[in-house]
Amino acid sequence: MPGRNFLFVPGPTNTPDRILRAMHVAMEDHRSSAFPTLAGPLFRDLRKIFKTESGQAFIFPASGTGSWEASLSNTLSPGDRVIAARFGQFSHLWIDMAQRLGLKVDILDAEWGEGAPVERYHEALAADKAHEIKAVLFTHNETATGVTSDVAGVRRALNDARHPALLMVDGVSSIASIDFRMDEWGVDLAVTGSQKGLMLPAGLGSVCASKKALASYDQAKLARIFFDFGDMSKANATGYFPYTPSLPMLYGLRESLAVLFEEGLENVFARHHRLAEGTRAAVKAWGLSLCAKEPKWHSDTVSAILVPPGFNGAEVIDIAYRRYDLALGAGLARMAGKLFRIGHLGDLNELMLLGAIAGAEMAMRDVGIKVTPGSGVGAAEEYWRSTAKPLDKRDLPPRAPDAQPTAPAARPPVAATR
Ligand code: PLP
Repeated sequence: MPGRNFLFVPGPTNTPDRILRAMHVAMEDHRSSAFPTLAGPLFRDLRKIFKTESGQAFIFPASGTGSWEASLSNTLSPGDRVIAARFGQFSHLWIDMAQRLGLKVDILDAEWGEGAPVERYHEALAADKAHEIKAVLFTHNETATGVTSDVAGVRRALNDARHPALLMVDGVSSIASIDFRMDEWGVDLAVTGSQKGLMLPAGLGSVCASKKALASYDQAKLARIFFDFGDMSKANATGYFPYTPSLPMLYGLRESLAVLFEEGLENVFARHHRLAEGTRAAVKAWGLSLCAKEPKWHSDTVSAILVPPGFNGAEVIDIAYRRYDLALGAGLARMAGKLFRIGHLGDLNELMLLGAIAGAEMAMRDVGIKVTPGSGVGAAEEYWRSTAKPLDKRDLPPRAPDAQPTAPAARPPVAATR
């Protein structure tokens, strides 16, 4: 199909060309004396993404799932009790992993489309006077339902109960995209992957660990080999890895961090919020609803859009992909068929998103969902224009110095045109 594929799943996200170019490198010796100049600064700079001064960043050749495993296996022992809310497919999978690793999980089930129930964490922690709960698992942004939850709230719950459990946060679809504050929120293990806000291919899992999390490493008896913090720390201290790292991914990460710092993290968050609000305006104009039940839970990185009863979200996704070359996110597990998702994170702008909204609109009409042509596009456009700063040409990027002015060229004399 001519033209570009429109990638609007909530990860992997679009990789900017300059990151792709930075990754296009010949292989090098990862034990050379020059290697630490690449690896060393990455650990330091990555901490800025997590907003931590005192945490230690780890980089594993893995994905978000590997980062979950690293956080659990380096800090806990078989039979340890942990508490976790289940309110979407990713929070479900993290719980499943914890159980398969031999942990006892107190599950707080909530409706899919609601946020993590902070008040129920609060009650459970306050009731646990013997401090049997060793860790609190919390999914900041549930990508399956497009729901963002209150990490600061769960930290308050721990503090109010004077509970020493470790706070582990899945930030796979929030870190580097939505405001995330590891130190301020007292997060002990923050988990992410490379294919979302970092705009890289999947393949790097990152975990940032607080001093308290690192202190629990010696007592933790769960088996870990590939994900061992100890082996990693020892090698990282001199700028190396305990096994062969992926060089293109490390070069890509260096460029990705440069891209993020050039825009400024706060500007990235604000851009994602604007893009999300425009998408939400489109959903409203279509007469449809989000899976996220209340505005306080609306995610700025992904909108999960419910299709009307009697329609199949998977069909919308299939038509969008095969007919318009637009990749939309699927409904996962119990949400299969009930919704489609638009990812609005990473390297994108209003016009790109208008393309996705237009494509979703066309695919919905193709399967018979009654939406007014152009309604979503119009609403998003209206939102973005009406909330933009008034146009001041001095704010625009400068023209190239030798560019021609835009004034119309002088007309040739009338005689010469005859
Ligand atoms: N957690 C969340 C919130 C996710 O969105 C994902 C993947 O989309 C994961 C965990 C799993 O990450 P990965 O697919 O990189 O292993």
